[in-house]
Amino acid sequence: MQRFKALVLAKGDSGQSVAWQEMAEADLMPGDVLVRVSHSTINYKDGLAITGKAPVVRRWPMIPGIDFAGTVVSSTHAEFKAGDEVILNGWGVGETHFGAYAGRARVKGDWLVPLPDGMSAHDAMAVGTAGYTAMLCVIALERHGIVPDRGPVVVTGAAGGVGSVAVSILSSLGYHVIASTGRNAESPYLIDLGAAEVISRDELAQPAKPLAKERWAGGIDAVGSHTLANVLSMTSYGGAVAACGLAGGMDLPSSVAPFILRGVSLLGIDSVMAPKAVRIEAWRRIGTDLDLEKLASLSTTIGFDGIIDAAHDIVDGKIRGRVVVDM
Ligand code: NDP
Repeated sequence: MQRFKALVLAKGDSGQSVAWQEMAEADLMPGDVLVRVSHSTINYKDGLAITGKAPVVRRWPMIPGIDFAGTVVSSTHAEFKAGDEVILNGWGVGETHFGAYAGRARVKGDWLVPLPDGMSAHDAMAVGTAGYTAMLCVIALERHGIVPDRGPVVVTGAAGGVGSVAVSILSSLGYHVIASTGRNAESPYLIDLGAAEVISRDELAQPAKPLAKERWAGGIDAVGSHTLANVLSMTSYGGAVAACGLAGGMDLPSSVAPFILRGVSLLGIDSVMAPKAVRIEAWRRIGTDLDLEKLASLSTTIGFDGIIDAAHDIVDGKIRGRVVVDM
């Protein structure tokens, strides 16, 4: 039986520990598809899990890693057979079910999505859960009628993973993108991705007024807290904001004023339990609306051994764009 290396989180009397272990396929959790993992990524949630900064992991021990791309080794699921290339995002993988940071993953076939045509496993993980979530946000704005003609769209946490992919997709679709970042040195990077304007995150960091000057028709927010409150208070009449993240805090110190006086809508985005049809549509749109050259420019690649350092870096806000793990 094939043996492989895995990153394992454990919890004991002295707290949380992380270590490399050798495992066998028999050690994996139940599932109807066995996948040879070729690529994974570092998402903010992976950083929280590995550093223990938030209770992401809810079963111990745990192999972290919330997304992967790979090749099916064996399957009893009707939709998949050995040799198929697949991707997985969420469904509690890396939280309650053994995750991506291992040579093999055994999962439910219902959780898998075929690798989109024209995309490599590396490309798919350069997108990763962060990029797929950015696409879910874009689709939500479109469904609300926030199209390029309606006016600018703000993206917060713009130099991060969700933000970088959101800026790229929105600009490719013709939106006037206002990128908000705390890293002024990343302005040229954000302009290259397609931002029309770059603003300092400080403009959105103070406690929000109930209503402020209308600055944008919509927004994609990866930050939460005062940032989201300010984005809402600056959204123009009938606009909408897709909220997906909490990099700046889980609270929302806002008022009802944007909702009841300007008809602004707050669109909640969850990638983890999104139904399969929604995922397939998001990945199809990524295939058509995300420029692969921009994707290459916003991603870096590390090896298996770089996962722990990168996990610390992402929660410290030091990662730019997306990090692919080449397993
Ligand atoms: P990243 O760390 O790559 O990006 C987050 C960015 O937020 C940072 O790069 C930084 O951008 C900004 N930021 C960080 N800390 C603060 C702070 N204290 N105040 C203001 N801005 C801050 O993470 P991801 O892009 O992978 O994820 C972003 C968020 O989205 C996370 O909270 C994550 O948990 C969430 N998420 C949610 C999903 C869902 O299903 N709803 C799925 C995927 C992610 P800059 O330097 O440009 O200011």
